[in-house]
Amino acid sequence: MQINLISDTVTKPTSEMLQVMMQAEVGDDVFKADPTVNKLEAKIAEMFGMEAALFFPSGTMANQAVIKLHTQPGDQVICDKWAHIYNFEGGGVAFNSGVTCALIDGERGMFTVEQVAEKLHNDGNIHLPQTALVAIENTTNKGGGACWDVKEIEKIKAFCDENNLPLHLDGARLFNAIVATKDSPKTFGKLFDTISVCLSKGLGAPIGSLLLGTKKDIQKALRYRKLFGGGMRQVGYLAAAAIYALDNHVERLKIDHERAKKIGEVLAKNSLIKKVEPVETNIVIFYVNDSISDTDFVKKLEKEGILIVSMGEGKLRIVTHLDISEEMFNRLISILENLK
Ligand SMILES: *Cc1c(COP(=O)(O)O)cnc(C)c1O
Repeated sequence: MQINLISDTVTKPTSEMLQVMMQAEVGDDVFKADPTVNKLEAKIAEMFGMEAALFFPSGTMANQAVIKLHTQPGDQVICDKWAHIYNFEGGGVAFNSGVTCALIDGERGMFTVEQVAEKLHNDGNIHLPQTALVAIENTTNKGGGACWDVKEIEKIKAFCDENNLPLHLDGARLFNAIVATKDSPKTFGKLFDTISVCLSKGLGAPIGSLLLGTKKDIQKALRYRKLFGGGMRQVGYLAAAAIYALDNHVERLKIDHERAKKIGEVLAKNSLIKKVEPVETNIVIFYVNDSISDTDFVKKLEKEGILIVSMGEGKLRIVTHLDISEEMFNRLISILENLK
């Protein structure tokens, strides 16, 4: 039995999901003529109380289109030093938009309004890159699935409004935050100019992210999606999977969260483990003791059929998801309890 805990992106469509995919009504989405994509975009826009949405092949492309539409070359984006847009999108901020990032030294990928204010450049000083966008990530990826306090986001939103700055939410795992904190999608819809969400992570769709925003911004994003090569044709088969995921796989995220918590507790008791970061959602970040290297720890688990990733410097990550059965979970716990 192989138990893959490398990421929540490793899931495969369930047979029910495949059924709805096969029955999807499709058309050419580049002409906005795919009824299933149109239905998905309208559904999620309504869910978040935002004007419009656009289906993207990946979260990276959705974020990159957002950065492009909110900035001009030479501008600056304020984000955390651990932000996905800065670390894991291939340098796309520079490549696609010609912008730099002002990095905040945050806490588990999160920061305060005071830290945003320290990075702001909008006084027209010709020597400085001018701030064009503030980006937040929820849950934080490198921060171990941590959830933002909405009160801090409200302060940042007020600051952005005062300074005429758009606020973007990289919500690849936003549904994990929504389930964990019980903040509603509409709460986030009100606070952000644009939001990207992934359907291909915890929600278990094979492909797809959505970008949410005003009609005007989504119209601009449509052009950038085309320009980046992301205009897709009969993509309703994938939108059908996304609709199924939204209808059936959101609430169950709490199972992933409970399991991650339990894994964290078991790891904390293991003598090979130095420290486990707080577990809030479906990501467990932990550090091994000096007695074993992170790569050796990964190999040890691999021998038991358990796949996880090392993040380097003694840091490791486990991600729970919907393809972990009860049987796999029980086996995993017993292996972790007995690992020496
Ligand atoms: C996964 C992820 C993305 C997008 O990733 P894709 O693999 O391109 O879909 C964006 N932001 C965060 C925080 C992520 O975890």
